[in-house]
Amino acid sequence: MIFDQGLGDIFSIRIAGNIINEDILGSMEFACKVAGSKFIVVLGHTKCGAVKGACDHVEMGNLTALLAKLQPAVYDEKSEKQDRSSNNPEFVEKVATINVKRTVEAILQRSPILKELIETGQIGIVGGSYDVANGRVTFFDDTLMIGLSDIEQSATQTDGKPIRDNYYKESL
Ligand SMILES: [Zn+2]
Repeated sequence: MIFDQGLGDIFSIRIAGNIINEDILGSMEFACKVAGSKFIVVLGHTKCGAVKGACDHVEMGNLTALLAKLQPAVYDEKSEKQDRSSNNPEFVEKVATINVKRTVEAILQRSPILKELIETGQIGIVGGSYDVANGRVTFFDDTLMIGLSDIEQSATQTDGKPIRDNYYKESL
């Protein structure tokens, strides 16, 4: 139970590490285009075992391929120099945040259907993190998009995020 919503109010798609693949994208497209969902929340969480596993480059069965999808977020985190493992809680949380933001971007890049729904303001999208210690959700304001102007505005932010730059070029 989250966001004060009742049973059936949220089309919940859960996967370790909040990565996306064709099945996840297909489920989101169904939710938004067919079932009437109005808002996508890419919600990571603190102390995430999957993120920790990615930080430690864990390889284990089918988890290996899943954690590989989190590696770009591990590499994108440049600020922690000392202990780049799950022993460093700050590193873990930074990677988790980057991973959520990358996933928001990837949804726009890899789903023309969802991208169009967002551009036309029919649905919105935002990334956030659920704090398992206190149940609070922090939304990442720079990931909030509803309508084309939001996308363009965020795309022109000079925050050095290459993915958003790429997205912006594609959308021109
Ligand atoms: Zn997790």
